[in-house]
Amino acid sequence: MSLSQADILRALELVKLPASGQSLAASGRVADILIDGGKVIFAIGIDATEAHAMEPVRRAAESAVGGLPGVTQVLVGLTADKAPASAGMQARQQAHRPGGAPPKPAGVPGVRQIIAVASGKGGVGKSTTAANLAVALATLGLKVGVLDSDIYGPSMPKIFGIAGKPQIVSGRTLAPMEAYGLKVMSIGFLVDEETPMIWRGPMVISAITQMLREVAWGDLDVLVVDMPPGTGDAQLTMAQQVPLAGAVIVSTPQDLALLDARRGVAMFRKVAVPILGLVENMSYFICPECGHRSDIFAHGGARHEAERLGVPFLGEIPLAMPIRETSDGGRPIVASEPQSAHAKAYLALARQVQASLGGATRAAPRIVIE
Ligand code: ADP
Repeated sequence: MSLSQADILRALELVKLPASGQSLAASGRVADILIDGGKVIFAIGIDATEAHAMEPVRRAAESAVGGLPGVTQVLVGLTADKAPASAGMQARQQAHRPGGAPPKPAGVPGVRQIIAVASGKGGVGKSTTAANLAVALATLGLKVGVLDSDIYGPSMPKIFGIAGKPQIVSGRTLAPMEAYGLKVMSIGFLVDEETPMIWRGPMVISAITQMLREVAWGDLDVLVVDMPPGTGDAQLTMAQQVPLAGAVIVSTPQDLALLDARRGVAMFRKVAVPILGLVENMSYFICPECGHRSDIFAHGGARHEAERLGVPFLGEIPLAMPIRETSDGGRPIVASEPQSAHAKAYLALARQVQASLGGATRAAPRIVIE
């Protein structure tokens, strides 16, 4: 017998809201129910201020639906997308609140710092940068995890050459996969590539909440989150709901990409997440035959843009065939060719990130919202 939305809502009649005693099913807060075989994903709309109080409701909803015959996996997320004000509006309201930043979401036990690697648009090399940055941070001696939340094109299974599915360790907790000494979790491990999925904001948050909080990350110094590209409501909500210590923005040198990068910076500023800096990817080209360096695009744009925006410039990564080949072949260059000049560019980036994270730990920089 296949599951229906009515079955899910029936199970949710037994879950009561703490303030009103009303059933979750009747509250109109359940949104975007997606049923894929035995997998059930949905979101509970909340006001951002209720996040703490509604966490037990989220858990109760998961166990209620998890108990239905035929259900093998449940992902439930709290999302402010369905709150009276949109996530964007809330972020703006919070950012303008006199006296300070929006309330920080709860941390992830065992994980010291979480950083986002983001880009204003797709295809700029965000995932390649995130993966190599993660390996480089591990090379510097840190315990590192990677969370691939790029729902539009999860690429960490491919970049790290990982096949298979994460195992359940206890209850609903999944063990992360491992590669090159890193703990890796990807939406690509949870959703089959062939499964057509139309992702909407609340579902994205549901899946990310689970990957963040229901994975046995263990003891990590840094968790690198590969964000979905772009600066829409889903990304903004995510930037708001994941307890980020900072964000790295990846851009290519073209003007258009820089415009997008500017939007990325603005998005993190809105939700008071420190910008660790801008990286220029595919910055210049060194001819493998003659060693001649060509600045294919107007190179240096990201450095100027960083200065203009008042954020650190973290470095340049060349456009290089070995970076593409290793990244697409499951052997990130920092791990497979650690002595190469390209790997050294990522290591320099990692040192910069480590230094700014150290700063962020000692004293959170005061963010001035425009
Ligand atoms: P995004 O995550 O921004 O969509 P990816 O990291 O998936 O981008 O990169 C897109 C493509 O560009 C991939 O084939 C990747 O191997 C390649 N790529 C990324 N960075 C570089 C680089 N510095 N030099 C050469 N190819 C790169």
